[in-house]
Amino acid sequence: MSSEKASGLQESSMGSSQALQPADDDNVKSCWVCFATEADDRLAAWVQPCKCIGTTKWVHQSCLQRWVDEKQRGNITRKVLCPQCKAEYIVVFPSMGAFVALLDAMEEITHKICPFIAGGVLLGSIYWIAITYGAVTVMQVVGHREGLEMMESADPLVLLVLLPTIPVTLISAKMYNWEDSVLLFLRKYCAKIPALAYILPFGNVEGDRGAVVTGPTNNQNQNSNSHLSPTRIFCSALLLPTISTIIGKIFFRSIQNNLHRTILGGLTYITIKGALKIYHKQMLYIRHSSRKILDYTESNLKLYRSATTTTADAMSSTRDDSEQVV
Ligand SMILES: [Zn+2]
Ligand SMILES: [Zn+2]
Repeated sequence: MSSEKASGLQESSMGSSQALQPADDDNVKSCWVCFATEADDRLAAWVQPCKCIGTTKWVHQSCLQRWVDEKQRGNITRKVLCPQCKAEYIVVFPSMGAFVALLDAMEEITHKICPFIAGGVLLGSIYWIAITYGAVTVMQVVGHREGLEMMESADPLVLLVLLPTIPVTLISAKMYNWEDSVLLFLRKYCAKIPALAYILPFGNVEGDRGAVVTGPTNNQNQNSNSHLSPTRIFCSALLLPTISTIIGKIFFRSIQNNLHRTILGGLTYITIKGALKIYHKQMLYIRHSSRKILDYTESNLKLYRSATTTTADAMSSTRDDSEQVV
């Protein structure tokens, strides 16, 4: 069989493959990757890797290897299917002995457990940071010497459990927004008490708009005003013991017991800060609920637009408008 004949045959089988196949394919092998026939390279290894018949029945071993490499893209465990009949190629690796198998297994185990080790190290670090924070807080709150004595006399196991709960408790307590609950309670039940209205204005919001303003959208709005972000919760929760100690030392110097003094300082701080926050929120609420939209007239434009564009540096224009009207 000459090479000219072979290439001629190959071309003809490309054109009318289905008709020619049954008689032809056993005699003339043709690679569906490189289109070469048996006559072109008598030494090349052939394989019949799938259920295909006809022109795609035979393929060079080396051509199919390249094709499989291309499909696997470095992941040698990925399954490769015949693009035509979808049969999965049977890929067999030669046995390399027990030692290589052991190395294989170790490689795989390492690959699998590394994420868990890294996660464990991270969790462990957070745990030890929490313990350290707890210990520092205990010493800060009850006094350095007393705190050390207390922790030395305590059961180490109890300390390992209790100390990390200090920052956790502080943060979870901070997540509960008690000021909002108090404010809602005040709005609901105390708006009728005249004495209270002097301290905390309730505003004369008409029924309809009042409901709209207190609705969920506005709550979101107010929350975004107060920036209740995770970092803010984190910082203010973990700084609470320090601030309480400082305030206790400033305002309750007469109290000898460190713990009592710090608790009083903390309560004072929380109360004052909460009251200010409630007041601020209520004022924002009143400002928002009594805003007006004006007629588009020359005089209004002159009065408000020019003023807002010049002062609208940091604040949004809508907020500025409401400020102007209020
Ligand atoms: Zn080939
Ligand atoms: Zn196939």
